[in-house]
Amino acid sequence: MLIVANWKAYVEDIGKAKKLFAISKRFSKEKGNKIVLAPPAPFLSALTLRNKSNVGFAAQDVSQTTGGAQTGEATAQSYAAVGVKYAIIGHSERRAAGDTDAVIAEKLSHAVAHGLTPILCVGEHERDSEGRYLGFIREELTNALQSLAPKERTRIIIAYEPLWAIGKNAALSIKPNDLIEMVLYIRKVLAELLHGKNAARTLIIYGGAVEPDNIRELAASSRIDGFLVGHASVNPHIFMLLLKQLV
Ligand code: PEP
Repeated sequence: MLIVANWKAYVEDIGKAKKLFAISKRFSKEKGNKIVLAPPAPFLSALTLRNKSNVGFAAQDVSQTTGGAQTGEATAQSYAAVGVKYAIIGHSERRAAGDTDAVIAEKLSHAVAHGLTPILCVGEHERDSEGRYLGFIREELTNALQSLAPKERTRIIIAYEPLWAIGKNAALSIKPNDLIEMVLYIRKVLAELLHGKNAARTLIIYGGAVEPDNIRELAASSRIDGFLVGHASVNPHIFMLLLKQLV
């Protein structure tokens, strides 16, 4: 299981960041689990530069620019320079702040160019009985992947994050059967965009109200490769409880 902890702007002091890192190091020793932390950018180098564990680090976003006179921007290259290996791109909170498919395409291409593994977020706003939400997911995936060369497309991790579940609680999260259906659908779309066996090899993770109460059920009954966890990854006690469900 790949667990990506998206701290968003919830973590604002370095003491708490170090505590969550220590918990992650402990659990990353368990066979079969890989933990990737996505802290706010100012905390990254304090955590990555002396990291001897197999905990990985992700940028929560990368700049659309490649450097120069761009005050306030953090480029893919600068993240890679401090040991970051992954980048969350196209998160719904960035899309709501103005990231269009074209912007996301540029960010993906900068991330890949600097050796980062993009974690591409896709997800519908709501579900409808006619299945239009499936077309929405297809479009987000197609627009993002078509902007990359075929070989680059194989580097991407897909995070399926329905907006209706984000920030809610376990009771309002996706049900295992609906998750299975969506994972199969995403693999079908990937098979049209990737050559050969690459669609089957692409990691697909789920995010949206993953908590200690539902992670085990979702992990056991669906064909998911891991989780993108928001609010349940920023409270040390809850994060520990959540990780314990997987060992
Ligand atoms: C997210 O926004 O990426 C997310 C998964 O949030 P939460 O776990 O808080 O629903």
